[in-house]
Amino acid sequence: MACVTYPYQAPVSQKLFDRAAAVTPGGVNSPVRAFRAVGGTPRFMVSGKGPYLTDADGRSYVDLVCSWGPMILGHAHPEVTAAVQEAVARGTSFGTPGAGEVALAEEIVARVTPAEQVRLVSSGTEATMSAIRLARGFTGRAKVVKFAGCYHGHVDALLAAAGSGVATLGLPDTPGVTGAQAGETLVLPYNDLAAVRAAFDEHPGEIACVITEASPGNMGAVPPLPGFNQGLKDLCAEHGALYVSDEVMTGFRTSRAGWYGVDGVTPDLMTFGKVMGGGFPAAAFGGRADVMGRLAPAGPVYQAGTLSGNPVATAAGLAQLRLLDDAAYAKLDAVSAQLRQLVAEALGKEGVAHRVQTAGNMFSVFFTDSPVTDYEGARTQRTEQFTAFFHAMLAAGVYLPPSAFECWFVSTAIGDAEIERIAGALPAAARAAAEAGAGAGAGGGSGTRE
Ligand code: PLP
Repeated sequence: MACVTYPYQAPVSQKLFDRAAAVTPGGVNSPVRAFRAVGGTPRFMVSGKGPYLTDADGRSYVDLVCSWGPMILGHAHPEVTAAVQEAVARGTSFGTPGAGEVALAEEIVARVTPAEQVRLVSSGTEATMSAIRLARGFTGRAKVVKFAGCYHGHVDALLAAAGSGVATLGLPDTPGVTGAQAGETLVLPYNDLAAVRAAFDEHPGEIACVITEASPGNMGAVPPLPGFNQGLKDLCAEHGALYVSDEVMTGFRTSRAGWYGVDGVTPDLMTFGKVMGGGFPAAAFGGRADVMGRLAPAGPVYQAGTLSGNPVATAAGLAQLRLLDDAAYAKLDAVSAQLRQLVAEALGKEGVAHRVQTAGNMFSVFFTDSPVTDYEGARTQRTEQFTAFFHAMLAAGVYLPPSAFECWFVSTAIGDAEIERIAGALPAAARAAAEAGAGAGAGGGSGTRE
């Protein structure tokens, strides 16, 4: 990493990182956490309260990662915590059906009309993996279409040209995924309906499903162009394939019904995670009752999980979802809009070329002058400017995603004091970005795309 200076050190975190590196590959349990894209010491967090995280060195940060989405109400929300404590006291896992999982499934089905039935699992990866298996089992076909820059968890068949950590670390195809596992995956450019049409024409009767992030957030925020999701749905219907909308990130975040609540396009299958788990490992996939009815034990497609529908996770998720009413979404939207404006103003003032792109209250900042509509566009940004910006924000007590390819996540816990801290941090961060970009052709553009 060229010429990056880290404005302050974090000695206790560094010691923990050294210990971690001895016993865990790369010192982390999920790659982006290691700060490889931005350099420096990853902050080891010891507690979270409302909008703040506190690290092992005793510094506090306004949290704009929110555990990559789940902590939409902020940390340790008293009502979620109380629900968890009550659930824990009743026992932590039964391996039987339970009332909590019924209530959580009912809440999801009530919010998201196309999810006529849902099956609970423990991670977003499990949800997409199971949805793909079900789509293949239902259609009797093998091929899956995915889009470059979309991330659907570390499912073997879906890692090709993936976003998130795969994009952050610039990894080519992942060793360990065999040709057989990836060979049935067709990777197409995002927002390109003509490419999807061509794929269906080239592989008649072979494509089981098209899976897409409902509105991609794993290459930064790159929303679908008008008509794209509907076009996918129509092409799938025309060719007997299933349209699978991955709402692990957008679900219950961009509206009470997720991205479905924004664009109204009806998927055949959907996947959920993050927000619906209230900070615990809970996720789900769901959709048309006739398709879901093919799952064991109702049907022949096998899928299972020792901790699926775990009573503590379902209690947390249900408590969180019940708190997410219209007022909560209005607050999230308002905070997001305010932050987007502050960031655009600060970068504009320093003449830093950028695009603030948004999908509901999810947004990200691309250090580039052109609108970003696909993965290729996302990769044109000047990541060295993001790195400088990131470290200046971190030094001022604002925790951003440590990658230029990730969305920023807001919570309802963010109030005036936190906005003030962020606003106070932005001028120096924008200046750092300008300095990092000096000579790189920064042009001072400032675009916003919904
Ligand atoms: N799908 C999307 C859209 C995601 O953003 C993610 C994770 O970031 C996943 C799937 C995988 O979820 P998990 O990390 O819970 O396995």
